[in-house]
Amino acid sequence: MRKPRIVIVGAGYGGMITTVRLQKLLSVNEADITLVNNNSYHYQSTWLHENAAGTLHHDKTRLNIREVIDTSKVNFVQDTVVDIRSKEKRVVLGNGELEYDYLVIGLGFESETFGIKGLKEHAFSISNINSARQLRDHMEYMFSRYATEKRDELLTVVVGGAGFTGIEYLGELVNRMPELVKEYDLPREKVRIVCVEAAPTALPGFDPALIEYAVSHLEKKGVEFRIGTAIKEATPEGLIVAKDDKMEEIKAATVVWAAGVRGNALVEQSGFEAMRGRIKVDEFMRAPGHDDVFLVGDAALVFGPEGRPYPPTAQIAIQEGYTIAKNLTVLVRGKGELEPFAFDNKGTVCSLGHDDAVGIVFGKLLFGWKASFMKKVIDNRYLFLLGGPLLVLKKGKLNFF
Ligand code: FAD
Ligand code: NAD
Repeated sequence: MRKPRIVIVGAGYGGMITTVRLQKLLSVNEADITLVNNNSYHYQSTWLHENAAGTLHHDKTRLNIREVIDTSKVNFVQDTVVDIRSKEKRVVLGNGELEYDYLVIGLGFESETFGIKGLKEHAFSISNINSARQLRDHMEYMFSRYATEKRDELLTVVVGGAGFTGIEYLGELVNRMPELVKEYDLPREKVRIVCVEAAPTALPGFDPALIEYAVSHLEKKGVEFRIGTAIKEATPEGLIVAKDDKMEEIKAATVVWAAGVRGNALVEQSGFEAMRGRIKVDEFMRAPGHDDVFLVGDAALVFGPEGRPYPPTAQIAIQEGYTIAKNLTVLVRGKGELEPFAFDNKGTVCSLGHDDAVGIVFGKLLFGWKASFMKKVIDNRYLFLLGGPLLVLKKGKLNFF
């Protein structure tokens, strides 16, 4: 009898954890497992703001997939998914096709610009290794031009959105600034870092004491916050923003859009019913009406008991990967019960550079070095789950203070 074919598309947090759990749970005789990813590497999206600010080299953030998975059990295909034909149980790749009995979609997130004019053309996002590297290079190029051109806007960086991505990026950027000022012979007082946030507060929904700590930490390091101010348009010169119907132009050579994400558009382009690229899953993490298609990570829309969707995070993606691997094992073996997914929220830590952070972990508020220490523990734990202690030693954050 032919072995069931499991295809996992996307090697993000969800796809990688599903794969390494499956290779542990199933023997080679039980299933053919294929992992597809557009790059030969997996990257930790949760470190991309560091790559974008230039405080961490992107090679630290990415891992060679073949070195992490067991290639005697999992067939890795480096290719781009271009279509998913669920009726035919086929995945169309840039250079071929794969048939599946069970599919796991973990194609992750992309930047969501909500149709705001000019953002796609004039703003940078922090969405993957290449976009983070491009942002870092662009900003440094703008800084390098200042010496000859002396235009103030070359030294202005505007960050759209004071959500977790925006705040974590700012934390890295302010730490990097003294080095950049020295490297590019810049007058420090001319460097402007502005954060524009539409909501009435930074980090909407977070604990007020943590927000206050984060904002005052960043203000002390030179960030200008424009709270309650919405980005309306990006232009070649900078941004048009509005507060209480009053429009203003902020001239800036570097504009960072960190104000929204959505699931990969390929999900809805493939005919699945989705909300901004995220499919509302059943209790077992499957697409409604498709018992053979599982969603993991930012591709999945999971509702909590209060009827609100959980925010898309690496934390939930990892836990979903565990549940999906268990459920696939049940289906492949044809025995046992499928396990419903239940999110165990351990908390959230927001870094403010490598040496400071704020967070709430197991219900306890953490500030400063304690939060920063915890953030590194969380990062290292993921690497441990993925590849054991050796991967932690190779790629982990071992400089705790
Ligand atoms: P992703 O990590 O998005 O990976 C998707 C994978 O699919 C990638 O390897 C990509 O190359 C591949 N792919 C995409 N399209 C194709 C295609 N067409 N064909 C083949 N392969 C494809 N969450 C937390 O819990 N804690 C944090 O501290 C945290 N920090 C963050 C910091 C930043 C700067 C950002 C941007 C996000 C952060 N998040 C954090 C959120 C977290 O990164 C995401 O929720 C998480 O990455 C989602 O994982 P995923 O498995 O859905 O896929
Ligand atoms: P987000 O949607 O959480 O935050 C975007 C922010 O941009 C919001 O504060 C929003 O009010 C603001 N905004 C939206 N439109 C705007 C406009 N036109 N002008 C100005 N401001 C505008 O997005 P994110 O911060 O990229 O986070 C994405 C996901 O990743 C979330 O689920 C988040 O929890 C997760 N994440 C977690 C961490 C962490 O745990 N440390 C870090 C980064 C991201």
